Amino acid sequence: MLQDNFGRKIDYLRLSVTDRCNLRCRYCMRKEGIGYLAQYEILTLKEIARIARVFARCGIVKIRLTGGEPLLRQDIAAIMRSIFDHGGIRDICLTTNGVLLKDKAASLKAAGLRKINISLDTLKRDRFAFISRGDFLNNVLSGVDEAVNAGFLVKLNVVAIKGVNDDEILDFVEFCQKKKIILRFIELMPVSANFNLGDCRYLSRRDIEKVLRTLGALTPQGQLGSGPADYYGMPGFLHPVGFISAMSGKFCFRCNRLRISAKGEIFPCLSSRRKINLRNYLRSGASDEELMALIKQSVADKPREHCLNQGENVLTSFMSVIGG
Ligand code: SAM
Ligand code: SF4
Repeated sequence: MLQDNFGRKIDYLRLSVTDRCNLRCRYCMRKEGIGYLAQYEILTLKEIARIARVFARCGIVKIRLTGGEPLLRQDIAAIMRSIFDHGGIRDICLTTNGVLLKDKAASLKAAGLRKINISLDTLKRDRFAFISRGDFLNNVLSGVDEAVNAGFLVKLNVVAIKGVNDDEILDFVEFCQKKKIILRFIELMPVSANFNLGDCRYLSRRDIEKVLRTLGALTPQGQLGSGPADYYGMPGFLHPVGFISAMSGKFCFRCNRLRISAKGEIFPCLSSRRKINLRNYLRSGASDEELMALIKQSVADKPREHCLNQGENVLTSFMSVIGG
Protein backbone atom coordinates (compact mmCIF):
# COMPACT_ATOMS: atom_id res chain seq x y z
CA MET A 1 0.00 0.00 0.00
CA LEU A 2 1.19 3.52 -0.80
CA GLN A 3 0.95 6.13 1.92
CA ASP A 4 2.31 9.66 1.76
CA ASN A 5 4.00 11.78 4.40
CA PHE A 6 0.64 13.15 5.54
CA GLY A 7 -0.90 9.73 6.17
CA ARG A 8 -2.99 9.71 2.98
CA LYS A 9 -3.50 6.35 1.32
CA ILE A 10 -2.78 6.54 -2.42
CA ASP A 11 -4.70 3.99 -4.50
CA TYR A 12 -5.85 5.93 -7.58
CA LEU A 13 -3.98 6.86 -10.77
CA ARG A 14 -5.09 9.34 -13.42
CA LEU A 15 -3.36 8.45 -16.62
CA SER A 16 -3.25 10.79 -19.61
CA VAL A 17 -3.03 8.68 -22.76
CA THR A 18 -2.60 11.57 -25.19
CA ASP A 19 -2.07 15.32 -25.25
CA ARG A 20 -4.09 15.62 -28.48
CA CYS A 21 -7.60 16.99 -28.46
CA ASN A 22 -10.36 17.56 -30.98
CA LEU A 23 -11.62 20.57 -28.96
CA ARG A 24 -9.93 23.68 -27.62
CA CYS A 25 -11.89 24.53 -24.48
CA ARG A 26 -10.99 28.06 -23.49
CA TYR A 27 -10.27 27.14 -19.87
CA CYS A 28 -7.95 24.26 -20.79
CA MET A 29 -6.08 24.87 -24.05
CA ARG A 30 -5.04 27.89 -26.05
CA LYS A 31 -6.44 28.20 -29.55
CA GLU A 32 -3.01 28.00 -31.13
CA GLY A 33 0.61 27.61 -30.23
CA ILE A 34 0.22 24.64 -27.95
CA GLY A 35 2.58 22.34 -29.82
CA TYR A 36 1.75 18.68 -29.58
CA LEU A 37 4.21 16.12 -28.26
CA ALA A 38 6.02 14.11 -30.92
CA GLN A 39 4.45 10.67 -31.33
CA TYR A 40 7.52 8.91 -29.93
CA GLU A 41 7.19 10.90 -26.70
CA ILE A 42 3.73 9.55 -25.94
CA LEU A 43 3.35 6.36 -23.94
CA THR A 44 2.66 3.30 -26.09
CA LEU A 45 0.03 0.69 -25.34
CA LYS A 46 2.70 -1.69 -24.08
CA GLU A 47 4.19 0.99 -21.82
CA ILE A 48 0.78 1.89 -20.41
CA ALA A 49 0.09 -1.79 -19.71
CA ARG A 50 3.41 -2.12 -17.89
CA ILE A 51 2.84 1.08 -15.93
CA ALA A 52 -0.59 -0.18 -14.86
CA ARG A 53 0.91 -3.49 -13.77
CA VAL A 54 3.66 -1.84 -11.74
CA PHE A 55 1.25 0.63 -10.14
CA ALA A 56 -1.06 -2.27 -9.26
CA ARG A 57 1.89 -3.97 -7.53
CA CYS A 58 2.31 -0.79 -5.48
CA GLY A 59 -1.34 -0.91 -4.36
CA ILE A 60 -3.14 1.21 -6.97
CA VAL A 61 -6.62 -0.27 -7.56
CA LYS A 62 -8.30 2.36 -9.74
CA ILE A 63 -7.14 3.98 -12.98
CA ARG A 64 -8.83 6.79 -14.86
CA LEU A 65 -7.84 7.22 -18.50
CA THR A 66 -7.89 10.84 -19.52
CA GLY A 67 -6.04 13.29 -21.76
CA GLY A 68 -6.21 15.34 -24.00
CA GLU A 69 -9.04 13.44 -25.54
CA PRO A 70 -8.49 9.72 -24.83
CA LEU A 71 -10.90 8.57 -27.54
CA LEU A 72 -8.55 10.01 -30.16
CA ARG A 73 -6.34 7.01 -29.50
CA GLN A 74 -7.23 4.26 -31.95
CA ASP A 75 -6.04 1.69 -29.41
CA ILE A 76 -8.07 2.98 -26.46
CA ALA A 77 -10.12 -0.25 -26.12
CA ALA A 78 -6.93 -2.32 -26.40
CA ILE A 79 -5.35 -0.16 -23.67
CA MET A 80 -8.29 -0.95 -21.39
CA ARG A 81 -8.15 -4.64 -22.13
CA SER A 82 -4.42 -4.73 -21.45
CA ILE A 83 -4.93 -3.03 -18.07
CA PHE A 84 -7.72 -5.44 -17.10
CA ASP A 85 -5.76 -8.48 -18.36
CA HIS A 86 -2.96 -8.01 -15.87
CA GLY A 87 -5.36 -8.02 -12.92
CA GLY A 88 -4.79 -5.90 -9.82
CA ILE A 89 -6.69 -2.89 -11.16
CA ARG A 90 -10.31 -3.33 -10.03
CA ASP A 91 -11.72 -0.19 -11.50
CA ILE A 92 -11.03 1.54 -14.85
CA CYS A 93 -12.84 4.75 -15.72
CA LEU A 94 -12.69 7.14 -18.63
CA THR A 95 -13.02 10.91 -18.86
CA THR A 96 -13.98 12.10 -22.33
CA ASN A 97 -15.40 15.12 -24.09
CA GLY A 98 -17.86 12.70 -25.72
CA VAL A 99 -17.35 13.88 -29.30
CA LEU A 100 -16.33 10.40 -30.51
CA LEU A 101 -18.26 8.42 -27.93
CA LYS A 102 -21.23 7.35 -30.03
CA ASP A 103 -19.07 5.23 -32.31
CA LYS A 104 -16.72 3.95 -29.61
CA ALA A 105 -19.14 3.07 -26.81
CA ALA A 106 -19.70 -0.53 -27.92
CA SER A 107 -16.00 -1.36 -28.18
CA LEU A 108 -15.32 0.27 -24.81
CA LYS A 109 -18.09 -1.80 -23.24
CA ALA A 110 -16.69 -4.95 -24.83
CA ALA A 111 -13.26 -4.07 -23.40
CA GLY A 112 -14.75 -4.09 -19.89
CA LEU A 113 -15.33 -0.37 -19.25
CA ARG A 114 -18.37 0.38 -17.06
CA LYS A 115 -17.96 4.01 -15.98
CA ILE A 116 -17.65 7.11 -18.13
CA ASN A 117 -17.36 10.76 -17.16
CA ILE A 118 -18.45 13.05 -19.95
CA SER A 119 -17.50 16.73 -19.94
CA LEU A 120 -20.19 19.06 -21.24
CA ASP A 121 -20.50 22.71 -20.24
CA THR A 122 -23.56 23.84 -22.15
CA LEU A 123 -26.66 22.48 -23.84
CA LYS A 124 -26.69 25.31 -26.37
CA ARG A 125 -25.01 24.85 -29.72
CA ASP A 126 -23.58 28.34 -30.20
CA ARG A 127 -22.30 28.39 -26.64
CA PHE A 128 -20.71 25.00 -27.08
CA ALA A 129 -18.89 26.34 -30.12
CA PHE A 130 -17.78 29.40 -28.14
CA ILE A 131 -16.48 27.46 -25.12
CA SER A 132 -14.85 24.56 -26.97
CA ARG A 133 -14.10 26.25 -30.29
CA GLY A 134 -15.77 23.29 -32.03
CA ASP A 135 -19.27 22.69 -33.38
CA PHE A 136 -19.85 19.24 -31.90
CA LEU A 137 -22.70 19.59 -29.40
CA ASN A 138 -24.89 17.09 -31.26
CA ASN A 139 -22.07 14.54 -31.34
CA VAL A 140 -21.67 14.85 -27.56
CA LEU A 141 -25.41 14.56 -26.94
CA SER A 142 -25.53 11.40 -29.10
CA GLY A 143 -22.53 10.10 -27.17
CA VAL A 144 -24.36 10.66 -23.87
CA ASP A 145 -27.42 8.76 -25.17
CA GLU A 146 -25.30 5.93 -26.53
CA ALA A 147 -23.45 5.57 -23.22
CA VAL A 148 -26.70 5.54 -21.24
CA ASN A 149 -28.31 3.03 -23.59
CA ALA A 150 -25.25 0.80 -23.45
CA GLY A 151 -25.64 0.66 -19.66
CA PHE A 152 -22.60 2.68 -18.59
CA LEU A 153 -22.62 4.49 -15.28
CA VAL A 154 -22.42 8.03 -16.67
CA LYS A 155 -21.43 11.19 -14.85
CA LEU A 156 -21.66 14.57 -16.52
CA ASN A 157 -18.98 17.12 -15.58
CA VAL A 158 -19.83 20.78 -16.06
CA VAL A 159 -17.22 23.49 -15.56
CA ALA A 160 -19.21 26.43 -14.21
CA ILE A 161 -18.21 29.72 -15.81
CA LYS A 162 -19.64 33.05 -14.71
CA GLY A 163 -21.37 34.93 -17.50
CA VAL A 164 -21.06 31.97 -19.84
CA ASN A 165 -23.10 29.01 -18.59
CA ASP A 166 -24.33 30.07 -15.13
CA ASP A 167 -27.86 30.44 -16.50
CA GLU A 168 -27.91 26.72 -17.36
CA ILE A 169 -27.47 25.28 -13.88
CA LEU A 170 -31.11 24.20 -13.55
CA ASP A 171 -31.22 23.06 -17.19
CA PHE A 172 -28.38 20.66 -16.40
CA VAL A 173 -30.22 19.35 -13.33
CA GLU A 174 -33.26 18.62 -15.47
CA PHE A 175 -31.18 17.14 -18.30
CA CYS A 176 -29.34 14.76 -16.00
CA GLN A 177 -32.45 13.66 -14.12
CA LYS A 178 -34.15 12.93 -17.43
CA LYS A 179 -31.17 10.95 -18.71
CA LYS A 180 -30.71 9.26 -15.29
CA ILE A 181 -27.09 10.33 -15.01
CA ILE A 182 -25.09 11.98 -12.25
CA LEU A 183 -24.31 15.68 -12.50
CA ARG A 184 -21.21 17.35 -11.08
CA PHE A 185 -20.24 20.98 -11.21
CA ILE A 186 -16.51 21.70 -11.38
CA GLU A 187 -15.03 24.97 -10.17
CA LEU A 188 -12.91 26.70 -12.79
CA MET A 189 -9.23 26.38 -11.96
CA PRO A 190 -6.91 29.21 -13.05
CA VAL A 191 -4.30 27.66 -15.31
CA SER A 192 -2.03 29.23 -17.90
CA ALA A 193 -4.52 28.73 -20.75
CA ASN A 194 -7.21 30.75 -18.97
CA PHE A 195 -5.38 32.74 -16.34
CA ASN A 196 -6.63 36.07 -17.55
CA LEU A 197 -10.19 34.79 -17.39
CA GLY A 198 -9.74 33.19 -13.98
CA ASP A 199 -10.98 35.82 -11.56
CA CYS A 200 -13.87 37.26 -13.50
CA ARG A 201 -15.19 33.91 -14.77
CA TYR A 202 -14.85 31.93 -11.56
CA LEU A 203 -18.13 30.75 -10.03
CA SER A 204 -17.95 29.22 -6.59
CA ARG A 205 -19.75 26.15 -5.40
CA ARG A 206 -21.72 28.35 -2.97
CA ASP A 207 -23.06 30.40 -5.90
CA ILE A 208 -24.27 27.23 -7.62
CA GLU A 209 -25.76 25.84 -4.43
CA LYS A 210 -27.82 29.02 -4.09
CA VAL A 211 -29.35 28.40 -7.50
CA LEU A 212 -30.02 24.72 -6.70
CA ARG A 213 -31.79 25.70 -3.45
CA THR A 214 -34.48 27.40 -5.50
CA LEU A 215 -35.63 23.81 -6.17
CA GLY A 216 -35.66 22.87 -2.46
CA ALA A 217 -33.34 22.03 0.43
CA LEU A 218 -30.05 20.27 -0.31
CA THR A 219 -29.23 17.21 1.77
CA PRO A 220 -25.48 16.61 2.19
CA GLN A 221 -24.48 13.11 1.13
CA GLY A 222 -20.70 13.51 1.40
CA GLN A 223 -18.44 11.58 -0.97
CA LEU A 224 -19.98 8.70 -2.86
CA GLY A 225 -16.88 6.63 -3.60
CA SER A 226 -13.25 7.63 -3.68
CA GLY A 227 -13.44 10.68 -5.96
CA PRO A 228 -13.08 14.35 -5.07
CA ALA A 229 -16.78 15.21 -5.46
CA ASP A 230 -19.04 16.14 -2.59
CA TYR A 231 -22.72 15.31 -3.18
CA TYR A 232 -26.13 16.66 -2.23
CA GLY A 233 -29.51 15.01 -2.55
CA MET A 234 -32.33 17.19 -3.87
CA PRO A 235 -36.02 16.78 -3.06
CA GLY A 236 -37.90 14.90 -5.76
CA PHE A 237 -34.74 14.03 -7.69
CA LEU A 238 -33.45 10.52 -8.15
CA HIS A 239 -29.77 11.39 -8.51
CA PRO A 240 -27.55 13.52 -6.30
CA VAL A 241 -25.68 16.55 -7.60
CA GLY A 242 -21.93 16.75 -6.96
CA PHE A 243 -19.36 19.51 -6.62
CA ILE A 244 -15.68 19.35 -7.38
CA SER A 245 -14.55 22.51 -5.69
CA ALA A 246 -10.78 22.54 -5.87
CA MET A 247 -10.66 26.30 -5.31
CA SER A 248 -13.25 27.14 -2.62
CA GLY A 249 -13.14 23.80 -0.83
CA LYS A 250 -9.73 22.23 -1.19
CA PHE A 251 -10.08 18.47 -0.80
CA CYS A 252 -6.32 17.88 -0.70
CA PHE A 253 -6.57 16.44 2.83
CA ARG A 254 -8.26 13.39 1.32
CA CYS A 255 -6.21 13.23 -1.87
CA ASN A 256 -5.70 9.62 -2.94
CA ARG A 257 -4.09 10.03 -6.34
CA LEU A 258 -1.04 10.26 -8.55
CA ARG A 259 -1.06 11.42 -12.15
CA ILE A 260 0.86 10.29 -15.19
CA SER A 261 1.20 12.70 -18.07
CA ALA A 262 0.93 11.70 -21.72
CA LYS A 263 4.72 11.51 -21.87
CA GLY A 264 5.02 9.32 -18.83
CA GLU A 265 5.86 11.81 -16.08
CA ILE A 266 4.50 11.07 -12.63
CA PHE A 267 2.98 14.18 -11.06
CA PRO A 268 2.54 13.88 -7.29
CA CYS A 269 -0.02 16.71 -7.54
CA LEU A 270 -1.57 18.68 -10.40
CA SER A 271 0.41 21.76 -9.39
CA SER A 272 3.63 20.00 -8.41
CA ARG A 273 6.97 20.76 -10.05
CA ARG A 274 8.51 17.58 -8.70
CA LYS A 275 7.73 15.27 -11.57
CA ILE A 276 9.61 12.05 -12.33
CA ASN A 277 9.81 10.85 -15.92
CA LEU A 278 8.95 7.18 -15.52
CA ARG A 279 8.95 6.66 -19.28
CA ASN A 280 12.67 7.38 -19.57
CA TYR A 281 13.42 4.73 -16.95
CA LEU A 282 11.03 2.32 -18.63
CA ARG A 283 12.72 2.83 -21.99
CA SER A 284 16.18 2.35 -20.55
CA GLY A 285 15.33 -1.09 -19.20
CA ALA A 286 14.44 -0.42 -15.54
CA SER A 287 13.12 -3.39 -13.59
CA ASP A 288 9.69 -3.42 -11.97
CA GLU A 289 11.37 -2.93 -8.60
CA GLU A 290 13.21 0.17 -9.84
CA LEU A 291 9.98 1.60 -11.23
CA MET A 292 8.21 0.85 -7.96
CA ALA A 293 10.91 2.77 -6.09
CA LEU A 294 10.29 5.80 -8.36
CA ILE A 295 6.55 5.60 -7.72
CA LYS A 296 7.21 5.53 -3.97
CA GLN A 297 9.50 8.53 -4.38
CA SER A 298 6.71 10.42 -6.11
CA VAL A 299 4.30 9.56 -3.28
CA ALA A 300 6.88 10.90 -0.83
CA ASP A 301 7.00 14.10 -2.94
CA LYS A 302 3.27 14.74 -2.56
CA PRO A 303 2.72 18.22 -1.14
CA ARG A 304 0.21 18.80 1.65
CA GLU A 305 -2.01 20.73 -0.78
CA HIS A 306 -2.14 22.22 -4.26
CA CYS A 307 -1.05 25.80 -4.91
CA LEU A 308 -3.36 26.58 -7.83
CA ASN A 309 -4.38 29.85 -6.20
CA GLN A 310 -0.81 31.14 -6.05
CA GLY A 311 -0.55 32.84 -9.41
CA GLU A 312 0.04 32.26 -13.07
CA ASN A 313 2.07 29.42 -14.53
CA VAL A 314 1.65 27.18 -11.53
CA LEU A 315 1.21 24.21 -13.85
CA THR A 316 4.36 23.06 -15.61
CA SER A 317 2.35 21.71 -18.58
CA PHE A 318 -1.11 22.19 -20.05
CA MET A 319 -3.97 20.32 -18.34
CA SER A 320 -4.33 18.31 -21.55
CA VAL A 321 -0.79 16.94 -21.16
CA ILE A 322 -0.93 16.29 -17.42
CA GLY A 323 -4.45 14.93 -17.66
CA GLY A 324 -7.15 16.96 -15.94
N1 SAM B 1 -10.79 15.74 -22.95
C1 SAM B 1 -11.40 15.06 -21.87
C2 SAM B 1 -12.53 15.86 -21.29
O1 SAM B 1 -12.64 17.05 -21.58
O2 SAM B 1 -13.30 15.27 -20.54
C3 SAM B 1 -10.44 14.64 -20.77
C4 SAM B 1 -9.37 15.62 -20.38
S1 SAM B 1 -9.94 17.13 -19.63
C5 SAM B 1 -8.42 17.95 -19.29
C6 SAM B 1 -10.51 16.51 -18.07
C7 SAM B 1 -11.40 17.43 -17.28
O3 SAM B 1 -10.67 18.57 -16.89
C8 SAM B 1 -12.63 17.93 -18.03
O4 SAM B 1 -13.80 17.63 -17.29
C9 SAM B 1 -12.42 19.41 -18.11
O5 SAM B 1 -13.63 20.11 -18.06
C10 SAM B 1 -11.56 19.66 -16.89
N2 SAM B 1 -10.79 20.89 -16.96
C11 SAM B 1 -9.89 21.27 -17.89
N3 SAM B 1 -9.39 22.49 -17.62
C12 SAM B 1 -9.99 22.90 -16.48
C13 SAM B 1 -9.89 24.08 -15.68
N4 SAM B 1 -9.09 25.08 -16.00
N5 SAM B 1 -10.66 24.16 -14.56
C14 SAM B 1 -11.48 23.14 -14.21
N6 SAM B 1 -11.61 22.00 -14.92
C15 SAM B 1 -10.88 21.89 -16.04
FE1 SF4 C 1 -9.84 18.97 -24.84
FE2 SF4 C 1 -10.87 18.10 -22.55
FE3 SF4 C 1 -9.18 20.18 -22.59
FE4 SF4 C 1 -11.60 20.48 -23.61
S1 SF4 C 1 -11.11 20.03 -21.47
S2 SF4 C 1 -9.67 21.14 -24.57
S3 SF4 C 1 -12.00 18.52 -24.44
S4 SF4 C 1 -8.69 18.10 -23.11
